[in-house]
Amino acid sequence: NVADLTGLPDGVPEHFQSQGIEELYPPQAEAVEAGITDGESIVASIPTASGKTFIAELAMLSSVARGGKALYIVPLRALASEKKEEFEEFEQYGISVGVSTGNYDSDGDWLATKDIIVATSEKVDSLVRNGAKWVDDLSCVVADEVHLVNDAHRGPTLEVTLAKLRRVNPNLQTVALSATVGNADEMAEWLDATLVDSSWRPIDLRKGVLYGQALHFDDGTQQELQRGKQKETAALVEDTLGDEGSSLVFVNSRRNAEAAAKRLADVTKGYLTDEERRKLRDVGDEIRDVSDTETSEDLANAVEKGSAFHHAGLASEHRSIVEDVFRDRLVKVISATPTLAAGVNTPSRRVIVRDWRRYDGDIGGMQPLDVLEIHQMFGRAGRPGLDPYGEAVLIAKSHEELQELFDQYVWADPEAVHSKLAAEPALRTHILATVASGFAGTEEELLDFLERTLYATQTDETGRLETVTQRVLDYLERNGFLERDDRLRATGLGHRVSQLYLDPMSAAEIIDGLRAAEDDPTALGLYHLVSRTPDMYQLYLRSGDRERYTEIAYEREPEFLGPMPSEFEDHAFEDWLSALKTARLLEDWASELDEDRITERYAIGPGDIRGKVDTAEWLLNAAERLASELQRSDEESLPPATTTAVREARKRVEYGVEEELLDLAGVRNVGRKRARRLYAAGIESRADLREADKSVVLGALRGRRKTTETILENVGRKDPSLDGVEADAEAKASAT
Ligand code: ADP
Repeated sequence: NVADLTGLPDGVPEHFQSQGIEELYPPQAEAVEAGITDGESIVASIPTASGKTFIAELAMLSSVARGGKALYIVPLRALASEKKEEFEEFEQYGISVGVSTGNYDSDGDWLATKDIIVATSEKVDSLVRNGAKWVDDLSCVVADEVHLVNDAHRGPTLEVTLAKLRRVNPNLQTVALSATVGNADEMAEWLDATLVDSSWRPIDLRKGVLYGQALHFDDGTQQELQRGKQKETAALVEDTLGDEGSSLVFVNSRRNAEAAAKRLADVTKGYLTDEERRKLRDVGDEIRDVSDTETSEDLANAVEKGSAFHHAGLASEHRSIVEDVFRDRLVKVISATPTLAAGVNTPSRRVIVRDWRRYDGDIGGMQPLDVLEIHQMFGRAGRPGLDPYGEAVLIAKSHEELQELFDQYVWADPEAVHSKLAAEPALRTHILATVASGFAGTEEELLDFLERTLYATQTDETGRLETVTQRVLDYLERNGFLERDDRLRATGLGHRVSQLYLDPMSAAEIIDGLRAAEDDPTALGLYHLVSRTPDMYQLYLRSGDRERYTEIAYEREPEFLGPMPSEFEDHAFEDWLSALKTARLLEDWASELDEDRITERYAIGPGDIRGKVDTAEWLLNAAERLASELQRSDEESLPPATTTAVREARKRVEYGVEEELLDLAGVRNVGRKRARRLYAAGIESRADLREADKSVVLGALRGRRKTTETILENVGRKDPSLDGVEADAEAKASAT
């Protein structure tokens, strides 16, 4: 019973009870028996939505009650604020909560006063590198979705971060939450933790496969689906609606998610009440208010009919609106890419996995998804207390496929997870950071540290880690990041690179490029330089792009920093062109091209523009710091013009404007479009804005009074009030 729990802050058990949590779910009870409230480490491998967060809360709250401090590591930045809000419920019992997002290179010292801290593993890694002192005071760490150690991009950081935290405090309580995986026991061994491994779910899950009219379930039963000429997905959604249930449809690409949402809106629109339709119209307007892009319009149109899409290319405001209206049962179906399954809490009656294959760029073909991923999607089916049961359905296109899907996904056990640490790119970054932040002062200590990773627990290939480590140390030494005699030492440059959170290979590329710069580098040259580092996800070349960008490459060759590879070096040349495509996107953005035109030209979503822009901003900021580090340490230092050019290119990409608008666009609430309108009306700077005739400002801002007053206030105008002011007609005409 929750009432019998001990070791929690006063009032917390009663709080849980008031939330309807009276009795522990069986896996939670197991965790308590294993000592979760007494500081014991636990690996909990249990299905999605089976109360893992509650297990984490027990660990963190009891740890804080003993005078400690807890850290909750989230897998995605988008989840950090969601978790923080959840934990803030405990502030009334004296627990303070902080979330750390934002820049990679600050030390986050203000977090020292918080009892519970929420952050991504990249952020924690960066805080450790920058010497955050409160890390020493941690008594409990929770790693959510720890099966992501299997992910080649993000896994190694999670792995190394946990190893570092456990090195700082050998008595650290470690709680790892995982989806059900094939080898949870290995993770428990790695973390010296007790394993709670369970397939228990709070609500029944029926799994099945649809073929033709027949829905076959794993309990041997069958349901006949009335579908007439309807497509499978539409028929399944309609069938659930007939039962007043909602559905989640998983597809394999953003484009497919958008198309499916549009199609399914024709189904859902017939099932809305007048009241729902009215409320959804308001939601539609809210969506349009976020941005005036085509994606925004498409989303609003679908939502007004009770259907939505959800994918990583959406603006985060859009994502949370969609999640909220779905939870409120106003929207009846979401078509999503699998990112939705990874953590966002949006359960529904029925989960339909329409696509179980996805395009794999490395292989160049369609690949079946992992059982682990499919089961996580399945796990979103069924809302405890709301639905009688959850249903998860795959769709077969042939009789053979029906059997295949049962074998491959319905009956199958999830795969084992494997450490991806021994890959060179991961080790490059983490070895430099491990040395720079003092976790290892000799090669022996370094290997000893690496022994604490999951990789070391899993591998029986002796010597592999040592071999890669040697290669990486050579690389770091050759590029001037490390010095090696009988001890290992990071150089000034090496320390910088580690603190800036750069892949050392990105830093080397940037440094070479800056040294190669002759006169003033152009913005395109700098955007290309940062776009060709491994820290930038480049845009793919589509059909016709090779020719298009080859032409641009020759035209603008003098602007590149460093030599262009020859067309005969196929791979290198192709990479160069992908970086050029990415750089052109940044250049278009910084030349004030409309968001809509950009999304069209590069076939991407508005969220992707944001992603590229943020990364470029971060890398250019790093380039600027590297430039000053070089100036400090180099005999033949860079010309000062280089640093200035880097700064300007960064600012232009930050605001998405031409140079002349930089001053104005930096004022809060102005932004790229309004800055251009003000400029067109003759207001060219902050100083102008402070002096200008208010009617001209109001006209240039298209008569928006509230916005105009806010902006005048933000620029420091003493009397921002517009009482009695009318918009200047000429300025208004120039702005529309
Ligand atoms: P997970 O983190 O495993 O995906 P959550 O922790 O979000 O799952 O739990 C899913 C839901 O179950 C939440 O709404 C939570 O409040 C509820 N819940 C958790 N534990 C209990 C319990 N013992 N009794 C009743 N409800 C519970």
